[in-house]
Amino acid sequence: MARIQGELFCEIGQGRGIRCNKKGSSGIEPGTLIVKEEPYSYTLTDGELLRTRCHYCLKRLETSVSCDACRTAKYCNEECKKTAKFHHTPECRGYSRLMNLPEHLRVMGRILYKMHARKTDMGALGPLSSLVSNVETLKNCEEGITSLDSKMECLSQHMEKEALPDRAFMEEIYGKIASNSFAILDENMCSIGIGVYPQASMINHSCKSNCIGMFYGPQIQIRANEFIRPGEQIFHGYIPPLLPTAKRQEKLLKTYHFLCQCADCRNTERDRLMRCVKCPDCSEGVAPNAGSLCTVVCLSSETIIKSTFRSTDGVFKTCESCGFANFDADFYEEMDILIEYADNILDKEQAEDILFTISLSK
Ligand SMILES: [Zn+2]
Ligand SMILES: [Zn+2]
Ligand SMILES: [Zn+2]
Ligand SMILES: [Zn+2]
Repeated sequence: MARIQGELFCEIGQGRGIRCNKKGSSGIEPGTLIVKEEPYSYTLTDGELLRTRCHYCLKRLETSVSCDACRTAKYCNEECKKTAKFHHTPECRGYSRLMNLPEHLRVMGRILYKMHARKTDMGALGPLSSLVSNVETLKNCEEGITSLDSKMECLSQHMEKEALPDRAFMEEIYGKIASNSFAILDENMCSIGIGVYPQASMINHSCKSNCIGMFYGPQIQIRANEFIRPGEQIFHGYIPPLLPTAKRQEKLLKTYHFLCQCADCRNTERDRLMRCVKCPDCSEGVAPNAGSLCTVVCLSSETIIKSTFRSTDGVFKTCESCGFANFDADFYEEMDILIEYADNILDKEQAEDILFTISLSK
């Protein structure tokens, strides 16, 4: 991997992250490559894609060749098969059983086989050592079959015994994968896999990000999308920025286990404007009253975030452009249906059909 621009920092109060070099830099221009990195480990998404895409370069399979030994790893041609060998040989014997696991555990299985074969120092954890694991949060957040314990049990049953480290070490690695993995996107921005990128993971999240990640097969490239001044921190958005604040915070907590307090999360005006409706008379935007958007954030072991926004009576008062004020019950009913519909679309990660999503936003 090459870090083209930016330096790692670790400061009291600010934590750790990557910023534009403080000294000797005139800033980072939009479009500049900040990180270019191959994944430490990755896999295709569960189900259909494991049969229809190359397990190495992730391209759609026109024809396919399989690994001669396990017959499970599929590649688009002999070249991918040959290049993949370096990663695949350590895991080949147990590869077909990994296919029965959910994606995060499958990535973990691949990592454990790799560590076992290369005799990675289990204490040092190799390239994963710098990543946070949030193990304690993970242990407390789920019960039953989704608990950390049952996940580790499930993985143990699907792996060759000699590649399994002790339980505490397994939990540590799983925590790092769960807290740091990226969704790998194809050219239509649909999620096709997940990957672990230790360098790219050093860039902190903000819903108001100043860079953007793109994928070329499994390789990630992160580029500035605005001018970044010397010493300014580089932020990458882990989730779609167009979701309302409560939804973004909920997703970040569930997936990455932290409560985002970025500039956009503190900006209630932004949410208010995002909830504008079209005036039935003059078609100008009418924003809901300030105070009608209420985000309840309750930080405890079971963190609950709820947006109490609904287009209840009185949320929309008067159109500032034409003075229209007759927002009646029918209007509110229609708005509720629309809001629910829009929330559902955003919930689906806009992944199904990008053209459909674009047409909606027109
Ligand atoms: Zn390929
Ligand atoms: Zn194989
Ligand atoms: Zn945020
Ligand atoms: Zn109006």
